[in-house]
Amino acid sequence: MNASPISSSSALSAKYTFERVLDVHHWTDRLFTIRCTRSGGFRFANGQFVMMGLEVAGQPIVRAYSMASANYEETLEFFSIKVEQGPLTSRLQHVKVGDSILVGKRPTGTLTISNLRPGNTLWLLATGTGLAPFMSVIKDPETYERFERVVLTHTCRNVDDLAYARFIEHELPSSDLLGELVRPRLLYYPSVTRESFRTTGRITDLLASGRACTDLGLPPLDRSRDRVMLCGNPEMLKETSALLEARGFEEGNSGEPGDYLIEKAFAAK
Ligand SMILES: Cc1cc2nc3c(=O)[nH]c(=O)nc-3n(C[C@H](O)[C@H](O)[C@H](O)COP(=O)(O)OP(=O)(O)OC[C@H]3O[C@@H](n4cnc5c(N)ncnc54)[C@H](O)[C@@H]3O)c2cc1C
Repeated sequence: MNASPISSSSALSAKYTFERVLDVHHWTDRLFTIRCTRSGGFRFANGQFVMMGLEVAGQPIVRAYSMASANYEETLEFFSIKVEQGPLTSRLQHVKVGDSILVGKRPTGTLTISNLRPGNTLWLLATGTGLAPFMSVIKDPETYERFERVVLTHTCRNVDDLAYARFIEHELPSSDLLGELVRPRLLYYPSVTRESFRTTGRITDLLASGRACTDLGLPPLDRSRDRVMLCGNPEMLKETSALLEARGFEEGNSGEPGDYLIEKAFAAK
């Protein structure tokens, strides 16, 4: 793999910083997490994404990536898919501790709580690596100041794909920093579609049938009270948006707060 020195003075430095890989964790043969250094000047809002990737033969191969780390953490974390023939991830999956990755200087994105109207319950609906932006949102104390309750749903094909489950269920609620805020307010609702588990099925179906709300002991989704963020595959986004629109929810974006927000995590080519 082509690892550039941290001090590289290449033209890439205008748009990217070279960050050193500190840790790589392979959840499955399709999913991994990279933790890397964070430049002092890199500021972002929880829920945003940035261009991230590798320098290959002097050229950047970069893709959009949500920060899975919160904006107050000293290091950056990215939760990634491995696409066999993918220009970036076929290479990125082989990075090792000490290698360099490129991180863009301009984070952006709509999945921030500032783009939502006030509400009581915040629903964070993720499929696959769409979980990444919500990892930073659930670690943000402001999330719990703005919302009385936070529901994080994560739907994957298999149980092993439910990355971060242990952190969400055990480590975050018992952390010194956020445990007290998180324990009474964060509800985690994982489901899988291709094997047996305590909850099976697509989140769209689980919401449409009312089962998700029943399981969680919550009333049906209602615009007067609930706010929603969506991140994941295109079908989930399309179907859930339709379900929300049918109930009167209005989509928001940067500068125009709404009842729900969308980010497309799976770039369709
Ligand atoms: C706003 C935004 C945020 C994103 N955040 C993340 C993130 O945090 N983590 C992440 O892994 N990816 C994320 N992506 C997707 C990411 O930008 C790349 O597409 C992905 O890293 C694969 O790059 P690639 O060059 O290997 O393959 P590409 O040529 O980019 O993709 C090849 C094909 O693989 C499929 N694919 C791509 N990404 C995914 C994915 N994440 N899950 C399932 N199928 C996929 C699609 O069908 C795509 O057409 C995000 C995309 C957008 C637009």
